[in-house]
Amino acid sequence: MGERIYFDNAATTPLDPRVFEAMRPYLQQAWGNPSSLYREGREARAAVDRARTQVAQLLGAEANEIVFTSSGTEADALAIRGALTAKGLQNARLIASAIEHPAVLACCRRLAREGVSLTLLPVDEDGIVDPETLRREITPDTRLVSIMAANNVVGTLQMVTELAEIARQHGVLFHTDAVQAVGKIPFDMRLQPIDLLSLSAHKLNGPKGVGALYVRGGVELAPLLEGGGQESGIRSGTENVAGIVGLGAAAEIAREHMADEAVRLVKIREYIIESITELIPNAYLIGDRYRRLPGHICLGFAGMEGEAIRLLMELDAAGIAISSGSACSALHAGEPSHVLEALGFDAFKARGSLRISLGRFNTFEQAARLLEVLPRAVSALRPISSLAALS
Ligand code: PLP
Repeated sequence: MGERIYFDNAATTPLDPRVFEAMRPYLQQAWGNPSSLYREGREARAAVDRARTQVAQLLGAEANEIVFTSSGTEADALAIRGALTAKGLQNARLIASAIEHPAVLACCRRLAREGVSLTLLPVDEDGIVDPETLRREITPDTRLVSIMAANNVVGTLQMVTELAEIARQHGVLFHTDAVQAVGKIPFDMRLQPIDLLSLSAHKLNGPKGVGALYVRGGVELAPLLEGGGQESGIRSGTENVAGIVGLGAAAEIAREHMADEAVRLVKIREYIIESITELIPNAYLIGDRYRRLPGHICLGFAGMEGEAIRLLMELDAAGIAISSGSACSALHAGEPSHVLEALGFDAFKARGSLRISLGRFNTFEQAARLLEVLPRAVSALRPISSLAALS
């Protein structure tokens, strides 16, 4: 058995050994409760505070604008439900994009069932929201706009600064789900008029089960969880100290290496895209050619859209882990992707995409191995799929 090659960094990333080392003392020795006043508590509190500063620095924010949560999902829910309920749901209008992650979409849809008026903005065939569409849709009763920074299925980047600017001009709060983007592309809250931003540690080589919400100073949120009043009363619950320390360490490493890492990943990405479209005639790239995450590739195979899962399993058998669509929808693997449908794919084509998402530990050699295996896997499937098409 050769080494496994992991190309599904959009689903989750391997824990960086430096992050693990930073966390270790907070699992083994410094296990105090940060709310306790004696030494063990003060040590834990200092670690949480340090992590808060590390996360803030990655975003160009102030430490007191960071609220730790249990996940990106919770950060999204706190931002959206928290912002809306703080002002009362009556006559409230909420705008999001049609390609949001289920963490945002499900939360918005629940609010719609509770009486909020919900508008989902369309995207073009490359997966981009036109800022002018947002400008047209904002009405005086719009309370919040939530548009993701980078899409988890196709990897496209939205013009979040322009979108946030439009919301700001209308006095409307702007939230971005930046779970896929933080640590990969730069953010600076001093320059970007974003009010709320969600992130998740496990997407930037940190641990699972810890996230954060950036809350611009002065923005009011109603808590989802009430209790001991941790996190300035916005998110009660004894802090996941080791996890938070891991997020802080991951943020610091990402900040230090982001620029070089983006250049390196774009080179591998371009090598894969160019080679695949040359080697596999029916392969096509989904999503904007360049306005995309440095390490994200989403591919379709014309005429073989129903075969994505079989292709994935072939690659798995050959030692390569890649995803069809998004991991969060693995439970719904046979269903069309709402993201691809929003890009204009019909229900059949929207079932079949392969997502190759690169990360910190991927190399050119691993990409070369993919380029050996994938064309073979595609041509091995083709005769069967053409038979299926006849039946
Ligand atoms: N938002 C986006 C864009 C994601 O890709 C994910 C994870 O896949 C989430 C939110 C949810 O984050 P978490 O897994 O930390 O709950």
